Amino acid sequence: MDKFDFMRRELERLREQNLYRDLRNFSSAQTRHVELGGRRLLMLSSNSYLDLCADTDIQNFAIETARKFGTGSGGARLTTGSSLLTAELEKRLAAFKHAEAALTFNTGYMANLGTISAICDKTWTIFSDELNHASIIDGCRLSKAKIIVYRHNDMADLRGKISELNPEKSLIVSDGVFSMDGDIVKLPDLLKIADEFGAISMIDEAHATGVIGKTGRGTAEHFGMERGADISLGTLSKAIGSEGGFVCGSATLIEFLRNKARSFIFSTAVSPVTVAASLKALEKLMASPERTLKLQKNVDFFCRELLKNGISARSETAIVPIMIGSEAKATEVAAKLFERGYFVSAIRYPTVARSEARLRVTLMASHEKAELSAAAAEIARAIRG
Ligand SMILES: *Cc1c(COP(=O)(O)O)cnc(C)c1O
Repeated sequence: MDKFDFMRRELERLREQNLYRDLRNFSSAQTRHVELGGRRLLMLSSNSYLDLCADTDIQNFAIETARKFGTGSGGARLTTGSSLLTAELEKRLAAFKHAEAALTFNTGYMANLGTISAICDKTWTIFSDELNHASIIDGCRLSKAKIIVYRHNDMADLRGKISELNPEKSLIVSDGVFSMDGDIVKLPDLLKIADEFGAISMIDEAHATGVIGKTGRGTAEHFGMERGADISLGTLSKAIGSEGGFVCGSATLIEFLRNKARSFIFSTAVSPVTVAASLKALEKLMASPERTLKLQKNVDFFCRELLKNGISARSETAIVPIMIGSEAKATEVAAKLFERGYFVSAIRYPTVARSEARLRVTLMASHEKAELSAAAAEIARAIRG
């Protein structure tokens, strides 16, 4: 018995319960075709929804930027880590989201942690959807606020809970598109409740930006609303195909976060190369919303193909969850699909509840119809056994 025995026991337990996790190291760029373990696969589980990670214009701009600005930022944003590129990126993000101002963080995870913990302290109450992303949950915990979890996308439950407590200072926080179920927050109702009770509203648009709304602007655009939440948070690491988190909102909010968000203050800024990639990708997205439209059409087509093969799946976003149930079966189906040339992630506890394991198919704007109908048939075959 040594002091690391508890680790070995825990790892053993994870293996027994089919919850053990391992890395898969790709030998290609993250595009719709990838290489892994000497195999060429159709990628059906990437968050790079617009397939921009290996776009030639973006790559070229990133290379030019590496030559001009170098490969590291040299410091935190408030010391030496900001450049003209970062300032331009924030200006464009604000314009894209029709907000007064924007602030970028190194990751979406850090944006949630920094924003929630800067705004809320133990005198606050946070109302949080039960299926919110882990980074929201961690941000809530870090803030030491009172946390009230409401039933998933259940606005009656939210209203009941907030009216019962009627707290003086409160934040309502929700994913815009839920990362494992792919459904969309009931934004109009949530904002009405926030207004009625004077709560700050915050929506995490990680899977909504570039994906929903006519021009990819996210949940507010999806619902045809002039005004979105008080705080619109997003990531540059999904549809935008780069890396970094961001917050859009009022000039006051952004000034406050710049001075108070610890994950913003105490971490070295991402490389100028990363900022350049974000900037160029955002420019592309704003110039050609057809990419977003193509993605939406692909999802619609793929769900209909699944249905033809006897699998019911529905989604208005890029995330198409296919429910399996058992952790062992989900892993087995994903392994079979891998053998047949498809990369599909099996999502298990603790990312989702126990016995709610699923295949999490995500589509890209670049997928072709023939690829998607073949994939739907293969997925059905793998599930049937
Ligand atoms: C991925 C994700 C994040 C984290 O963003 P990163 O940039 O990957 O750190 C935050 N919120 C939600 C809902 C996400 O899906």
